[in-house]
Amino acid sequence: MVDWRLYEPLINFARKRSMWIVSFCTGCGGIEMPPLATARYDFERFGIMPNPAARMADLFLITGYVTPKTLKRIIITYEMQPDPKYVLAHGSCPLNGGIYWDGYNAIKHLDKYIPVDVAIAGCMPRPEAVMDGIKKMMELIETGKADGWKRYKENYEYYKKNQDELFGEGWREKTARRWIPWLMDKRKEIGGGEE
Ligand code: SF4
Repeated sequence: MVDWRLYEPLINFARKRSMWIVSFCTGCGGIEMPPLATARYDFERFGIMPNPAARMADLFLITGYVTPKTLKRIIITYEMQPDPKYVLAHGSCPLNGGIYWDGYNAIKHLDKYIPVDVAIAGCMPRPEAVMDGIKKMMELIETGKADGWKRYKENYEYYKKNQDELFGEGWREKTARRWIPWLMDKRKEIGGGEE
């Protein structure tokens, strides 16, 4: 019987050098992604790549302010990602509302709804600061301290209570039901509607 814990340092090294980012940006910080990805900072040299499929991505960058409408998508996307998964929050908005701290429609504490592993200060954080946050994330992954995905499972009641207080109980099912007619139409469009 193989004890996989022996391989944990090697696995964590591989994880830190192959982070795939969910292609999902919120707020102003999304505009810092092109310089990060292109020649100037070139995050691909660290094995980091954007990925449109949440089920194949392990890093979720919350790049700015979050509204309740966006938060629903963030939670659903986060839950779709496989474990282990990591969240990096850009700037003050996701942490305390930032300049929208008194806005009626801004989420003030993202970490009440999903765990945040690394937070970057600033409004807006420059690409150097984001690279610094990414390097911090790599360090935490390598040492096994990026454990937000575990905290989400262990404290699921806490996160769910906060989510339900904001959206009302049964919000997932209601959101899913709204998509069903659209999905049925798409099915017909691609010729899958006839039984
Ligand atoms: S922290 Fe500043 S740059 Fe980032 S989303 Fe908020 S207002 Fe925009």
